Amino acid sequence: MTTAVPIEIQQAIHDTTTACADELITASRAIHALAEIGFEEVESSRLLSGVIEQHGFRVERGISGMPTAFVARHGMAGPHVAFVCEYDALRGLGHACGHNLIATSSAGAGISLARSLTERGVDARVTIVGAPAEEGGGGKIPLCHDGLFDDCDAVLIFHPSDRTASVQYALACTHWEWTFRGKASHAAGHPDHGINALDAFVHAYNGVSLWRQQLRDDARVHGFIVEGGTAPNIIPELTRGEYLTRARDGEYLRTMNARFRAIFEAAARATGCELQLDEKETYLDLRSNAVLAERASIHLAAVGLEEDRVVAWERTGSTDVGDVSYAAPTLHPEFAIADEGIGPHTHAFREAALSPRGESAMLQAVEVLGRIGADVIFDADVRHAVRDAFLRQAQHRTEWTGSGE
Ligand SMILES: [Zn+2]
Ligand SMILES: [Zn+2]
Repeated sequence: MTTAVPIEIQQAIHDTTTACADELITASRAIHALAEIGFEEVESSRLLSGVIEQHGFRVERGISGMPTAFVARHGMAGPHVAFVCEYDALRGLGHACGHNLIATSSAGAGISLARSLTERGVDARVTIVGAPAEEGGGGKIPLCHDGLFDDCDAVLIFHPSDRTASVQYALACTHWEWTFRGKASHAAGHPDHGINALDAFVHAYNGVSLWRQQLRDDARVHGFIVEGGTAPNIIPELTRGEYLTRARDGEYLRTMNARFRAIFEAAARATGCELQLDEKETYLDLRSNAVLAERASIHLAAVGLEEDRVVAWERTGSTDVGDVSYAAPTLHPEFAIADEGIGPHTHAFREAALSPRGESAMLQAVEVLGRIGADVIFDADVRHAVRDAFLRQAQHRTEWTGSGE
């Protein structure tokens, strides 16, 4: 790879990050306290887009049919870099995925990069996207369908973690909602009059558990029950809950989904219950851009961060950043905000997302993402290499076409 970002641009990004640090930390803490879940991030979205607007971005709120989504634009022409914000909390667990830090790091990266461009009169576009509901719902999917990322030279977003790495892996994932309907009756007096909707779920649960043994190593199936009955003396007439099916690629996931449906249908048939099984959103697998990853490694080292050794596809989740990675060259590096073993979706990680270590990682992410964005804007060779890598990857991808239901 050729030239790095000019030193004065790196300095400008660093200076703006330092100047905005208090503002970003205050916003991150406020979003953490709000802990609004997917599609309900009204105050978080308003607060974050307000901060961005004050730094000279043109903000449009309520896009792609989602009131809590926004897009903030800076510049009219030239190379185009986008930074994506997430700000949804987890149901029942608050900001245990640290999306408050994602929100402010992407905002900060966009603000600092835009300012460094303005100061030098460079023609380029910087976009900051507010994407709701990453933890279920998939706010980035409608944004992708509406082509928001199609003309981006790079899309960048960091994720807090218990390790630091330029590349993150994420599985394709389908979200399911299930309901079994039976018939209530007196559990002692007339058990023979009832149709047991809990039995149906137990059948399905056991069916999935047996099936798991035959799945590929990368596959995951897991879920829970929301409603399991109302009283011990009533045959449960309704049970419902949710599941996720996951795999490394859409093709295998599609095969899994057909079997998953068959297991639930068999359970309904065995117990005489009615089944409603809704296949909700599917997240695509994450396609990291190798050239952007190379730039990330360079800039992680430059801000003094050491990368942890990450085994590809080990300990992965899923993200709708995967869908973005099919639309434009994308990178989703992870930065440690806690010690190894204290991973997301835990109470301890929620605390880490509010800790000085978490906040300083967020500011380092501002700088690293800003520098990668500067590479793409200032260096045509980098930009072209990123595009080439994206196109090469596109030749090998399997497009998600749904389960054919
Ligand atoms: Zn999460
Ligand atoms: Zn997350």
